[in-house]
Amino acid sequence: MRHKALASLDAGCSLRSISVTTGVSRSTLREWRDHPERALAPRATCPRCSDPPALPEPRGDYAYLLGLYLGDGCISVSGDSAKGVWKLRIICAEAWPSLIQECVRVMRAVRPDNKVMLQRKQGCFEVSSCSRHWPCLFPQHGPGKKHARRIALQSWQKFIVSEVPGDFARGLFHSDGYRGVNRVRARLRDGERWYEYPRYLFVNESADILRLCGEALDLLGVVAWRFSKPNVISVARKDAVARLDEFVGPKY
Ligand SMILES: [Zn+2]
Repeated sequence: MRHKALASLDAGCSLRSISVTTGVSRSTLREWRDHPERALAPRATCPRCSDPPALPEPRGDYAYLLGLYLGDGCISVSGDSAKGVWKLRIICAEAWPSLIQECVRVMRAVRPDNKVMLQRKQGCFEVSSCSRHWPCLFPQHGPGKKHARRIALQSWQKFIVSEVPGDFARGLFHSDGYRGVNRVRARLRDGERWYEYPRYLFVNESADILRLCGEALDLLGVVAWRFSKPNVISVARKDAVARLDEFVGPKY
């Protein structure tokens, strides 16, 4: 659109006529004409670096990617550190091919200008993408393991999670959690019996990330969650599992 509009300007068309035919506002056309360098600057495409900062879009995809990142992702310097390029990597188990595709899709959706790479590793796939702006989008990055440092969402991230808690929870459960069947033996009056019920587990070593998961479950109205171990959140009550099924579901 920008190239087309600038070509029309070069050909002598007026801002007004180009605005009418393209639907692009005259102020934007003026900006394109007077500041061609801004279109080339990579910073122009980062919602957090824009002035005033904006929220990453689409917000549901961002919240899902945030959940994946907190569960199984890492951000590290890519190549020469002087260039300021960062690589976001998410590890996806090869057992769930659709989740790998979903991870590729959301990474591309959140940073459409950056290439997404898919690399096979032992027993898993690594989905990655390089950008200067991953630390802007995921300010939780830092040296060392996530469970060894404080993880807190910034206010704009809390706002997004409060808007789309289901996408955030889906990202968390699709990386560090699962929906499985629990089989227990119960002693009843007429003898012992096995019975099975579906449940969700979220396993993480970071108390902060476990707390974020619990808060998202509260926002979804999945109130019957509990810690089955210090590092495991369990959702097992029938109504709570049914509620979470609306947003998460089994891995696929
Ligand atoms: Zn940025």
